Amino acid sequence: MKILFLDQSGKPGGAELCLIDIAKPYGDRALVGLFADGSFKDLLQQNHIPVEVLATQAIQVRKESSLLQGFKSLGQLAPLITKVVKKAREYDLIYANTQKALVVGALASFFSRRPLVYHLHDILSQEHFSQTNLRIAVNLANRFASLVIANSQASKTAFVQAGGRPDIIEVVYNGFNPKIYQTDESDIKHLQQQLGLEGKFVVGHFSRLAPWKGQHILIDALAKCPHDVIAILVGDALFGEQDYVQKLHQQVSELGLENRVKFLGFRSDIPQLMAACDLVAHTSTSPEPFGRVIVEAMLCGKPVVAAKAGGAMELVEHGLNGFLVTPGKPQELARVIITCLQETEITATIANNAKTTASQRFDMTVINDYIAKLLVSKFRSLRHISSR
Ligand code: UDP
Repeated sequence: MKILFLDQSGKPGGAELCLIDIAKPYGDRALVGLFADGSFKDLLQQNHIPVEVLATQAIQVRKESSLLQGFKSLGQLAPLITKVVKKAREYDLIYANTQKALVVGALASFFSRRPLVYHLHDILSQEHFSQTNLRIAVNLANRFASLVIANSQASKTAFVQAGGRPDIIEVVYNGFNPKIYQTDESDIKHLQQQLGLEGKFVVGHFSRLAPWKGQHILIDALAKCPHDVIAILVGDALFGEQDYVQKLHQQVSELGLENRVKFLGFRSDIPQLMAACDLVAHTSTSPEPFGRVIVEAMLCGKPVVAAKAGGAMELVEHGLNGFLVTPGKPQELARVIITCLQETEITATIANNAKTTASQRFDMTVINDYIAKLLVSKFRSLRHISSR
């Protein structure tokens, strides 16, 4: 089967990292069409995945855009849609990985007569999207997609509650290669030295810097913890959240935490950095659609504390394979951090449980096979799909 994947982003967020794992097994039978140039393209190339930047200018619509702004962007989209229609005729199906990719993919699917799959990586609620964008996404998926893959039960529920068809949606969690998360102890020691983490209890936060990812909650919690607890914030403002970055730095200096919070920017050595931590914190203040970082921490054998909402609740069982805290409550988070600092044995057992179950539950090979089966079973009956 030949697949044309579409993704709007030039930068690698969770949806893009997931796409790499799904597209890779298809080799030359896949093409990833991007709507923006950037480091995601480089990452695809490093993984030997065919990629082409299809848009010549950035699409101005954002998740919270109004109907009028949406209409204005249609003019911008016309050349892109023409290009995608032409490309799609060389492939068996179109796989839209983001919302703007759904808009372009739906129209291209109609004109090229190719089936459409939509991988839903978002919770389609008004917390994340404007009413207009919600309606567009749901109506396009209902009308044009033969299959919607939701990255969690929480994403599926929100889709159906927003009017999405329950008969076309399947939940498939992100897959991971557990081997990537096995790290070398001497490399980790070296990294700890380099970053000045030795002798500290290190809480790691791995996420783009954005208000709803809640890095400010961790900073507040840190102020309530003993002085040997420090935090590393790994990630960058991927989508222009510079004001938030400034606020975080201001918060750190107001709380006098300059020596206890390290901003490391975007990194590609996540398994090593996680291995250098004593605890990984997830602090999203709005429901997380899935939460790759939670699974990654588990695969590294590190205890994880997550905000109790959305997909995170499908990944973590409090006290069994991690800890859950109320979103937006630094006091509660601080209590869990202190428990992990003091109750090392119990915490290690919980982390080990998590590692074992996560490597079975989120095995990339099993999940990729399942997606391939879904695609084949959905499209077997379609004439133009060859069994290549
Ligand atoms: N990530 C990364 N480098 C960074 C920060 C994060 O590679 O500096 C990765 C992280 O390991 C995870 C992904 O970005 O795989 C974020 O996915 P998640 O589902 O946690 O959040 P999303 O970005 O989809 O909202």
